[in-house]
Amino acid sequence: MAVPEVRLRALNDRPLQPRRRWVLYWMTSFRRTRFNFALDRAIEHAKALGKPLLVLEALRVGYPDSNDRLHTFILEGMAENARRFAKAPVLHVPYVEETAGDGAGLLEALAAEACVVVGDDWPCYFVPRMQAAAASRLDVRLELVDSNGLWPMRATDRVFTTAHSFRAHLQKALPPHLTLPADAPLARLDLPTTTLPAAIARRWGRAPKDLLEARPAAIAALPIDHSVPPGVMRGGSHVAEARLSLFVSKRLADYPVARNEPEQDGTSALSPYLHFGHVSAHHVFAEVARYERWTPDLLGRSIGGSKSGWWKMSPAAEAFLDELVTWRELAYNLCALRPDDYGSLATLPAFAKATLKKHEKDPRPHLYSDEQLERAETHDPLWNATQRQLVRDGWFHNYLRMLWGKKILEWSPSAKHALERMERLMNRYSLDGRDPCSYAGYLWVLGRCDRAWGPERPIFGSVRYMSSENTARKISVKGFLAKYAAR
Ligand SMILES: Cc1cc2nc3c(=O)[nH]c(=O)nc-3n(C[C@H](O)[C@H](O)[C@H](O)COP(=O)(O)OP(=O)(O)OC[C@H]3O[C@@H](n4cnc5c(N)ncnc54)[C@H](O)[C@@H]3O)c2cc1C
Repeated sequence: MAVPEVRLRALNDRPLQPRRRWVLYWMTSFRRTRFNFALDRAIEHAKALGKPLLVLEALRVGYPDSNDRLHTFILEGMAENARRFAKAPVLHVPYVEETAGDGAGLLEALAAEACVVVGDDWPCYFVPRMQAAAASRLDVRLELVDSNGLWPMRATDRVFTTAHSFRAHLQKALPPHLTLPADAPLARLDLPTTTLPAAIARRWGRAPKDLLEARPAAIAALPIDHSVPPGVMRGGSHVAEARLSLFVSKRLADYPVARNEPEQDGTSALSPYLHFGHVSAHHVFAEVARYERWTPDLLGRSIGGSKSGWWKMSPAAEAFLDELVTWRELAYNLCALRPDDYGSLATLPAFAKATLKKHEKDPRPHLYSDEQLERAETHDPLWNATQRQLVRDGWFHNYLRMLWGKKILEWSPSAKHALERMERLMNRYSLDGRDPCSYAGYLWVLGRCDRAWGPERPIFGSVRYMSSENTARKISVKGFLAKYAAR
């Protein structure tokens, strides 16, 4: 099945170069070999042109926030991809920059031999800027492919401002887009093969084994921030797929209840894998559908945006898909369609802008510095434990993320400061940070995709308020507090 047109866009107006050596897939965000429309598209080109396929998967050292935690996770994924591509007639080039700037020119050198360059259409952080700059330098077409989620990001030009309106839209408009990328595109693939020309291999050779194996000594030698150690999760598609299968078979049924309890492993914890593309939302959806014995003909008619009853799956599966599809893809909608200000206060609804402004000068009984927040030195034990989990593990629970953000708003001089602080802490420590869902999460804290709440309070105005005392009454946190106590 051809990749749907709505998922494709050319980033420059350069021609295809059919006489050249290979088709190049520049893999930056969908770092996987399965359920990947970009890989499918690159294979389509290679087959149509009768050319080999080369996949460049690179990791730079000079990107903002590069540290041991992010590098280790990405490298574990690259090593897994190298193993999978090695079994197929595809040349995978895992390149790891060892000195800032060393990687410059590699993409251009490979593109100079390419009939077409295929890339990942991912809508935030430095990725779109990097791709636009590359597109203007190349003399060959750079085509981006959207393999982010079930809803193709550019199938609408409407920016949805509530989950309800987006859900209602999906219930009407999603069915024709429910085509999945290939489950196993490398199986029985028949393509001519190629090797890396000696001049390119000499200058930018494949990542050395100890780096690809993410050996601590090899990572320690890289010019990146070594003060953030690896998190508790191991990267790569293999781990992601195992986690997915365990979640669907053992935990999905309890998701509606267990998902709010940080002391239970009630959620999928797939967000780091979704973020780095080690697993795709389509794959997650396919596994849920298979477990539920669901087929598209079961889909109900639009039910006006109600949370459950549309998919015609179990309530637990529908609750999970509401997060994976409605909330996650609402975040992609924001970043794709507001590329210039998706991470700013400008995206807040009028009520939130007005109320936060009105209360900007309210006295703040607790004002903490960036360092106090980072070191979890506040008066609030639950917040401190949450911050420690972020710093130690590189991931934390949704319910506590909401509380974490609300308190940062309460303890910061302004909403703008709060937004910057959430972004800085998450960029540095969270495996799933720097993602559309990150920005959507910070902005939710400040009132986006939410309504006004009463009573009007200091600092928050009519933006939804949360307190640690209330949270501790609603969910169990005793074990959590003990686990993440100060050391
Ligand atoms: C302040 C704040 C910051 C956040 N930062 C991030 C972030 O940096 N990266 C990130 O991926 N998510 C972020 N979220 C959203 C959400 O908290 C996480 O996606 C979720 O906790 C990840 O855990 P999980 O994979 O176990 O989720 P599950 O409950 O298993 O859900 C499956 C998937 O659905 C998506 N999802 C779930 N909840 C949400 C949500 N509320 N909004 C958007 N997508 C959702 C995620 O991709 C998630 O992996 C943030 C939320 C808040 C309030």
